Amino acid sequence: ELYNQIQETKGNIRVFCRCRPLSKEEISARYATVVDFNAAKDGDLAILTGGSTKRSFKFDRVYTPKDNQVDVFADASPVVISVLDGYNVCIFAYGQTGTGKTFTMEGTEQNRGVNYRTLEQLFEVAKERRESFKYDISVSVLEVYNEQIRDLLATSSSSSKKLEIKQSSEGFHHVPGIVEAMVDNTEEVWNVLQLGSNARAVGSNNVNEHSSRSHCMLCIMVKAKNLMSGECTNSKLWLVDLAGSERLAKTDVQGERLKEAQNINRSLSALGDVIFALATKTSHVPYRNSKLTHLLQDSLGGDSKTLMFVQISPSEKDLSETLSSLNFATRVR
Ligand code: ADP
Ligand code: MG
Repeated sequence: ELYNQIQETKGNIRVFCRCRPLSKEEISARYATVVDFNAAKDGDLAILTGGSTKRSFKFDRVYTPKDNQVDVFADASPVVISVLDGYNVCIFAYGQTGTGKTFTMEGTEQNRGVNYRTLEQLFEVAKERRESFKYDISVSVLEVYNEQIRDLLATSSSSSKKLEIKQSSEGFHHVPGIVEAMVDNTEEVWNVLQLGSNARAVGSNNVNEHSSRSHCMLCIMVKAKNLMSGECTNSKLWLVDLAGSERLAKTDVQGERLKEAQNINRSLSALGDVIFALATKTSHVPYRNSKLTHLLQDSLGGDSKTLMFVQISPSEKDLSETLSSLNFATRVR
């Protein structure tokens, strides 16, 4: 029965699994690949767990290391476009550090990711519809670290304010005081996204370590005006590069690290709990258990659309984290 309930809501929650290629280091250290992609076309994936044993998983899509940014975005694109039709949308990348969350969402200059392609696509569709609709698009870039919200587009003078989540009289969640940058062309967008990405590094001595312990959240706000009826709708699309889901080594767990690890665990399990509650139609959805889920509240549940990328490594050395990520993703699907 539980399975049937989850199937019914499938319209709103999609899970895509993406596996990165083996790295140069993994190849030279001769690590084996533990992922079997034979049935990837059907959304099936098998993990070789040792000897002749396998565990199978099913997703809405499976991307092998050969699939590129264009292949991935092609499937995300319909979900993205629905924000122009008034739907709230949330897309996030979940997985162990080093599995390609930032590659999928942010990408590189040469291989731009979902964030950039989303805005590019929105501008394109907005242009096609310009006879009937006027769209105003703005973006905010936030980071959640240790349950604190930081505005990555803030200038230094405004960045010391403590940021809190408030609910408007219409019931929408927002963060008063954050920068909302109006964007109306793709050149502007890449610059704004780079600005946000660079601001993540400020004040941390190790950029990669810091970014693996914080959630990076891009919010695209769309105001649509129907030029015939004059009717206006507001909707938003969240694009989230989550903190690494790996468990810390026991020897690392003390002091500041312990606090970070607890906050990451808390927010990632809060996210899992919210999506699971939605998928099983539980009456109480525990949005308030973390800043992450509280921020995403309008875009998780109701008639909003959710897309999760579960990112995995192909390498035998990451087997246990891979299984743990796939289990998380299976639980929410
Ligand atoms: P995460 O954000 O999950 O910690 P990254 O996005 O930083 O992981 O990826 C780790 C490394 O693997 C980076 O050098 C990235 O460019 C590379 N990488 C990840 N996914 C892919 C992919 N699908 N194709 C090629 N390189 C990838
Ligand atoms: Mg990253």
